[in-house]
Amino acid sequence: MTPRFVRAAAVALAVAGAALPSHLAAQGGMDTVTIRTIKVSDGIYMLMGQGGNIGVSVGDDGVVLIDDQFAPLTAKILAAVKALSPLPVKFLINTHLHGDHTGGNENLGKSGVIIVAQNNVRERMSKEAFSARFNRTSPASPKTALPVVTFPTEMELHLNGETLEAHHIPKAHTDGDAIVKFAKANVVHAGDVFVRYGFPFIDTESGGSLLGMISGIERMLAVTDASTKFIPGHGDLASRADVEGVLTMLKNIRDRTQAALRKKQPLDAFLAGKPLADYEAKFGANGFVKADDILKLAYGELGGAKK
Ligand SMILES: [Zn+2]
Repeated sequence: MTPRFVRAAAVALAVAGAALPSHLAAQGGMDTVTIRTIKVSDGIYMLMGQGGNIGVSVGDDGVVLIDDQFAPLTAKILAAVKALSPLPVKFLINTHLHGDHTGGNENLGKSGVIIVAQNNVRERMSKEAFSARFNRTSPASPKTALPVVTFPTEMELHLNGETLEAHHIPKAHTDGDAIVKFAKANVVHAGDVFVRYGFPFIDTESGGSLLGMISGIERMLAVTDASTKFIPGHGDLASRADVEGVLTMLKNIRDRTQAALRKKQPLDAFLAGKPLADYEAKFGANGFVKADDILKLAYGELGGAKK
């Protein structure tokens, strides 16, 4: 989510009688946010505040951040990083363009941090964008907030005794997603290709898709193993079983939607049959992405009439 989208979404959901989960709440009230530091492996940490989880690499060569939450939190985030390393932040990798992952870019870019992301992140952040979903126009990001190093498919950073491998995951949560693997420590920052807040938000207006999420998670599982630790885009540190659970859920959404389409079942009837009843308690409880939202998306993407 982007902060500007989140504000619009908060209004839309308030009207609909639902509430945004706290991690997606708008920028107001950040004075009270505290940054929690979770050790993932030697020299690798996860910071949780408000917005997307931040990955941190510390060591002799300096600090690398993966994502940076919201601009008002930059000072607190840097204070948490200082407690881990006296060295400056050298690089920032953005997992995708959304404002709860890139909100600190301008602050960090101004202070000389090199921002790295997949090509489409820079491309989309460089332009004004209108979202029909949230009925909102987002301005182009200032130059200092933009990634200065971009890559089409793969990128590697070599420092702190580690290799950080960024892999582009096409057309998943957005069209510019990257997962970042710490090759030696066997840790992955998944960005929003894998989240733990419930049914995943798939930003089709930024090039995301259900089938891309499925193949993206499969790709992530293919470059990892049973002992990999996963830093999700949102939520607590996770295991392979947690990622597999989400993959199975997304495949069930795909398969059940395809079955309905084969029967030429209209969307209304498909939704009325509550095809995700078995997942709603676990994934639909937060009220942000409801079962019907992701089913409608699947139905449209897989070829059904969107009405
Ligand atoms: Zn996102």
